[in-house]
Amino acid sequence: MKIPMKSLIEVKKLVRSSVFVLGILSGNTYSAEPIKELNLYSARHYQTDEALYSDFTKKTGIKINRIEADDNGILERLKSEGDKSQADVILLVDAARLWRAQMSQFFSPIQSKYLDERIPLNLRAASEPGGIPWFGFSTRARMIVFNKSIVNKSDVETYEKLADPVNKGRVCTRSGAHPYMLSLVGSLIERDGLAATEKWAKGMVANMARSPRGGDTDQIKAVASGECGVTLVNTYYFARMMKSDKNDDINAISKIGYVWPNQLAGGVHINISGGGMARNAPHPKEAVQFLEYLASDSAQEYLANGNNEWPAVTSVKVENPAFKSMGNFQVEKVSVSAIGKNQIVAQKLLDQAGYK
Ligand code: FE
Repeated sequence: MKIPMKSLIEVKKLVRSSVFVLGILSGNTYSAEPIKELNLYSARHYQTDEALYSDFTKKTGIKINRIEADDNGILERLKSEGDKSQADVILLVDAARLWRAQMSQFFSPIQSKYLDERIPLNLRAASEPGGIPWFGFSTRARMIVFNKSIVNKSDVETYEKLADPVNKGRVCTRSGAHPYMLSLVGSLIERDGLAATEKWAKGMVANMARSPRGGDTDQIKAVASGECGVTLVNTYYFARMMKSDKNDDINAISKIGYVWPNQLAGGVHINISGGGMARNAPHPKEAVQFLEYLASDSAQEYLANGNNEWPAVTSVKVENPAFKSMGNFQVEKVSVSAIGKNQIVAQKLLDQAGYK
């Protein structure tokens, strides 16, 4: 059925005038409801997260105001804002940093049946009175990468073996003060005990090809160039390079092999990116809504695909060609909560071993 143009114009005029009358009668009845919003402090900054945030806003009508910085920037900001902080949700990467934020009282523990059901016990903070302070939403694994013409795979199949004299002059890592190292050492303390891990740290220092420096990608490049024989990297850096079509990256990847460490015992060390509700959240309801959204199927996919990670929710499966080609592997049983808690002991141990 066709409606004549004239009638359409009339209808529009009528609607406009009734809204106007309604507005006068009621003061402001036709204005929209107060905007629902959420202040997000995030150390994540991946392009695909944009889609995640707009999907949440589309689904809930809650606008997200974002403050983005690296983890230290977020933690410093929360510290300086103190009780006046307007943060609702804090997202950080690495268990060591999440635990540090918990100790600084930046989180407000929450209770959520949905999060309890969806996020495995080993991927969240230990429960506190009143709820759980933080949850992991995606996981990454710390793998071993080696130069195929310098190192035998059988010499680097476990984290422990990297400290063996056979690898003298071959090992490169990032700084012993970096959370990725602190978390790995925190995990080894749980798995092998303190005395064995102290010995391991000394062995690592004795095996260094150079003083610890640079990020994970720098370690991969140094292994490819032959400056180092073997290193430790988070899976997403390696996957990113495997997917790259830059000649330098393709060339680097062709020179290196990888190991899923400790497959016979202990499993690969796992870390998380995660978050929780901020202590003085001005919008606590929206904060819980957002955290629960992050555990939903669609958000889990965004989170994992955005940075070549795995979903924390085990029922969610993502297809990542880079990981598919690398096969399945056993992961550690140690909880991220225990790993986070061990970081102070880990740092002391590394300092004493002279691990720069
Ligand atoms: Fe990283």
